[in-house]
Amino acid sequence: MNARAALAATFFPFHGGVHPPEHKDESSGSPIVAGPIPATLVVPLHQSIGNMAKALVNVGDVVLKGQMIAAADGTVSAAVHAPTSGRIVAISPQRVPHPSGLLEYCITLESDGADRWIERTRFDWRNADGRAIRDYLRDMGVVGLGGAVFPSHLKIGGAKDGLDTLVINAAECEPFITCDDRLMRERASQIVEGIKILQQLLQAREVLIGVEDNKPEAVDAMRAAIAGCEFKIDVVVVPTLYPSGGAKQLIKLLTNKEVPSGVRSTDLGVQCFNVATVYTIYRAIEHGEPVISRVVTLTGNVERPGNVDALIGTPIADLLAFAGNKADSDSYIYGGPMMGFEIPGTDVGLSKAGNCIIAKSSGLFPPKPAEMPCIRCGKCADACPAELQPMDLYWFGKSKNFGKAQERNLFDCIECGACAYVCPSNIQLVDYFRFSKSEIWAAEKSKKAADQARERHEFRQFREEREKREKAERLAAKAAQKHEAAASSADPADAERAAKIKAAMERAAAKKAEAAAQAGESAAPADATAAPVTEAVAAPVAEAAPVSQLDPEKAERIRAAMEKRAAEKAEQEAMSPEEKAAREAEKKAKIEAAMAAAAAKKAAKAAEAAKAQGDQADGSGA
Ligand code: SF4
Ligand code: SF4
Repeated sequence: MNARAALAATFFPFHGGVHPPEHKDESSGSPIVAGPIPATLVVPLHQSIGNMAKALVNVGDVVLKGQMIAAADGTVSAAVHAPTSGRIVAISPQRVPHPSGLLEYCITLESDGADRWIERTRFDWRNADGRAIRDYLRDMGVVGLGGAVFPSHLKIGGAKDGLDTLVINAAECEPFITCDDRLMRERASQIVEGIKILQQLLQAREVLIGVEDNKPEAVDAMRAAIAGCEFKIDVVVVPTLYPSGGAKQLIKLLTNKEVPSGVRSTDLGVQCFNVATVYTIYRAIEHGEPVISRVVTLTGNVERPGNVDALIGTPIADLLAFAGNKADSDSYIYGGPMMGFEIPGTDVGLSKAGNCIIAKSSGLFPPKPAEMPCIRCGKCADACPAELQPMDLYWFGKSKNFGKAQERNLFDCIECGACAYVCPSNIQLVDYFRFSKSEIWAAEKSKKAADQARERHEFRQFREEREKREKAERLAAKAAQKHEAAASSADPADAERAAKIKAAMERAAAKKAEAAAQAGESAAPADATAAPVTEAVAAPVAEAAPVSQLDPEKAERIRAAMEKRAAEKAEQEAMSPEEKAAREAEKKAKIEAAMAAAAAKKAAKAAEAAKAQGDQADGSGA
């Protein structure tokens, strides 16, 4: 029995998966070293999913290491901090590590070389309520470091009766990447302290740490560190199979629970945190250190592959120089070779999502052969961990039949690339899936904008009508007061004025009755003089004011919509951040479903029309 087999423990295989060459040995043998303090750091403001953080500093400000330089904006957002001490020299759109190559706001910091910290204090989380803990983690910039950068505070709390299983994702299944492996080997006890905090915050009944069997030293270190834990905790060794580090795949591997499409793992009693994120939670809570650095693997075509604790914002060029970039490197992958992407340039600053930088050369990564037609071999479906039919998704994406792609669960695709890896026709399937997703999101965005514009217009109409009505009522009340005062006065001048007012009112009422009769209205009395005085007072005033043009039924509909919205707002305000995020996800799913249905309907109509045309052509040909 080899060492790996000896480590194997209970697990529940998921569908599909592939086993690309690991390339872990190049970097896994070197201990983590502190990265360089570059002369200039480019810190992206958008370092978590959700809203970009809001800058708190100005150009020229002097800042200390760990000082918050941008605050979270809204619930789904996280703060950003100065990675070292120095001076802010720019706040401007710059290139960031993103496949689009689009510019995003970054804070450029000129380092003073002193690396002076702000004052750091431990956070007394045991005496803090859930909200205070969430706010603290948000303000310390804690996000998922596995690559998804989901703000961690949104994953704290929410499960009222506690969690069945807290899963710690230490699988690190992508080839080349070894930063989590080294972190576990070298800082296992600090990771376990972080796990203890999470276990208590989430009231987790058990903790399972999933590690692939190609990291036996990490497994030993973690097993030694969990000894003495007072709760149920285990290190589960799973076979090396990509993508076992996908959250859904790891949850299946460790708990045998399948997370269905559109369902959150917390609904099944499971929550998953990356091992590096847990480490930062520990540093933030026990040492008052915000997330200003991360361990990143520098590998590929470099002289000294290894793992570096690098400051966020360090230009990739500085990291490559640190690792001894070779002259024939031609491009650079940010992340792993399966799910990563090529960076637009080495001037971009390291972000919290950056777990690996791979220098590419034509020797290490030969050019991809040209795409050939799909031969429907089904290998992609066999490899897909999400149990999708990638060849169908490819076809629907290529023919821009996005509704059908959605119907076939396009959004369950985790873009792992396993399908493209096995495709004998060299089809870059994930590119087609990303294209389809972006098109669908763009369509949804414009539909949402149109809906919002329509709603705004209707609300405005309603508000204007209401204001007109209220004004008319106010004027009527005022006129009635005046009339009564004049009628009861002993002064002959007042009596004369009252008579004039009455006559004017009667004339106006008659005019109104005449207009109403012409318009076919029957409600107004034909004989205005016979109307009671109070009605006669109100009539001319109401006539003087603009008459509501809004259909009462429509007004009622708008009023009901406004009341519904107010109730929803109140309900939302009472929700926890996680519940809000879940609500948003639910809304999104509904919108997606509606779009899919609309697209399907459109496609059916088009097919019908085509058939009719065909029939017609057949008929005319006969
Ligand atoms: S693996 Fe490639 S060729 Fe085979 S069915 Fe899938 S897309 Fe087509
Ligand atoms: S990229 Fe998407 S479709 Fe392809 S194997 Fe991964 S999950 Fe399946």
